[in-house]
Amino acid sequence: MTNQNITNEQNATQQNTTQQAIDEQWMALALQLAQKAVELGEVPVGAVAVKDGQVVGQGYNLKETSQDPTAHAEMIALRNTAVNIDNWRLLGVTLYCTLEPCPMCAGAMIQARLPRLVYGAKDTRFGAHGSIVNILDETRFNHRVTVTEGVLADEAADLLQQFFQKLRNGK
Ligand SMILES: [Zn+2]
Repeated sequence: MTNQNITNEQNATQQNTTQQAIDEQWMALALQLAQKAVELGEVPVGAVAVKDGQVVGQGYNLKETSQDPTAHAEMIALRNTAVNIDNWRLLGVTLYCTLEPCPMCAGAMIQARLPRLVYGAKDTRFGAHGSIVNILDETRFNHRVTVTEGVLADEAADLLQQFFQKLRNGK
C-alpha cells in the first residue's frame, strides 16, 4: 500500500467519524422530541429535519392526542418542513428519526423526494426498512432515499421499552 492510499483511507475514516458525530448530535435532538411525546402519554418517537446544518422541521408522535392515525413523528416533521421551506420537495434535507419508519411514513419520504434518512431503533412491528417490508430500498420507485440506521439505537429502544413497561405496570 502506498502512502497516498493510507492518507486517503485516513481521510475517509475521518469523514465517517465526523458524519457520525453530526448524525448523533441531531439524533439526540430527535430523542428529546420523543421525550415530549412521553409526557403526553404518546409512544415516544421523535423526528428532526435538517438542511444546511439547521433545523427546518420537527415532530413527535401525536396519534393519541390528535386521534389521528397519520400523526406519526415523521409525517408531522415532513409537513412542518415543507411549510417552512415552502416546497413539498425536501431537497437537501436529512430526516432524523428515532425509530424505523412505518410503510406510510416511508411512502411519504419517497413522495417528498427526501434525500437522506437517519434512524435509530428497528421497529419489528411496523418497520418499512426491512423489518416487515422494505419500501425504502425498493429500486422500482423513481426516488431512492439514502438510509443510515442504528444511530443512538439503544437510547431510542430504551425510551420505548420504558414507556411500554410503564403502560404494563399501569403507570
Ligand atoms: Zn409512520
